[in-house]
Amino acid sequence: QLAQCPPWAPPDESLFPELPPLLHGHPDLHLRNGILSAAASSDSDGERAFFVADLTHVYRQHLRWRACLPQIQPFYAVKCNPDPYVLRLLAALGAGFDCASNGEISHVLGIGGIHPSRIIFANPCKAVSFVRNAAKMGVDTMTFDNADELYKIARAHPRAQLVVRILTDDTKALCQLGIKFGAPLATVPGLLAKAKELGLTVVGVSFHVGSGCYDPSVYTDAIMRARTAFDMGAEAGYRFSLLDVGGGFEDALFEQAASCLTEAIDTYFPDRSGLKIIAEPGRYYVSKAFSLATNIIARRAPLNESPAALSELPSVMYYINDGVYGAFNCILFDHQIAHPYVLCMGDSFHIPSDEPLHTSSVWGPTCDSIDCVCPTAQLPRALRVGDWLGFDNMGAYTICAASQFNGFQVSKVVYTTGGFGSSEVRSILAKFAADIECAASL
Ligand code: PLP
Repeated sequence: QLAQCPPWAPPDESLFPELPPLLHGHPDLHLRNGILSAAASSDSDGERAFFVADLTHVYRQHLRWRACLPQIQPFYAVKCNPDPYVLRLLAALGAGFDCASNGEISHVLGIGGIHPSRIIFANPCKAVSFVRNAAKMGVDTMTFDNADELYKIARAHPRAQLVVRILTDDTKALCQLGIKFGAPLATVPGLLAKAKELGLTVVGVSFHVGSGCYDPSVYTDAIMRARTAFDMGAEAGYRFSLLDVGGGFEDALFEQAASCLTEAIDTYFPDRSGLKIIAEPGRYYVSKAFSLATNIIARRAPLNESPAALSELPSVMYYINDGVYGAFNCILFDHQIAHPYVLCMGDSFHIPSDEPLHTSSVWGPTCDSIDCVCPTAQLPRALRVGDWLGFDNMGAYTICAASQFNGFQVSKVVYTTGGFGSSEVRSILAKFAADIECAASL
């Protein structure tokens, strides 16, 4: 039997260190030592879950990119997290954008100040109306991997600049994309011959090693295949000028991936005159930039019939106010494992290190039993309704695919800039906003 929950009161404001200035108005956010330590009190009930987006992290990832891969221009994969501030910041930093639909293209162009040439329509299987709309919006660079796509493009956007997406080894990735996209090398000469016959312009080659790539050596093999595709292009009468190395970059392995890529590009593309190299990173930029604060809205003793697969049975079930139909859809779609930690317990942010832990399970708020955030987690025994659990690395493939199933709203985002680069981010964003305003008034 669980002890009865005390009524919850918002944590005492005097416990908080001085608030950092915020970009976006929520006076309820607290960052300590760059680590999220937050509580929400801006909604009337003081319990709604919320993301904290640290835009400085996005900025620092961009500096890291430029340091490690100076010859490759990132085209941020919008699908990963189309957050408007992330897009604005990356636009201001000179990135391009990988869009998969008309909606994403409109979203990016709607920011203002972004020329359509900074967009690659990187979806090899597009509705014909999408191709037509891309033409209207001035987006010319687009991928293909099959002959039907060439017929569609010949009809709807004959002056498109085409990029053939080839199949590469994606077996070393969390999310494999090769079962759906990518032309096997053996089919490329036929596709290029068809493109020629239809009078289309093919400008280069793209690939994707799979999202969440955990073995960067696959980039070497992919570049080798891209070289072969370039040679096939020459044989078909094209002179390719674009190499797109896709996404798949994992934060922890980024330097390794960058060195594999750099070495392979040096080996297989020693003469790079007239060659533009781009990439489509998504999670690399945003995964660690977003954390999620969730409120424990209920708890109960576990059911007797817990899954047999669990070696240690949870002794308490916590229900939080975001779940797999919301931000934690990444558990189902992106093969992620959520790791909760205590943000605030009772009125305290200081969880004593000797606080006894017990095996718990953490569940989302909907009425569906698939809505399990963590089948087992070690959490302090004293957690109560009203306490807060935090989750880091929540920026990639979370908000973008969250639903409102059962009437639960998608968690809001509060923005901050913290640590090294904070003032640069603020002035970059302010200048970008001023430039857009100025252009709009002309
Ligand atoms: N480009 C394309 C065509 C994709 O399909 C994806 C992800 O699915 C990405 C880029 C982004 O990949 P990642 O987030 O692993 O960098």
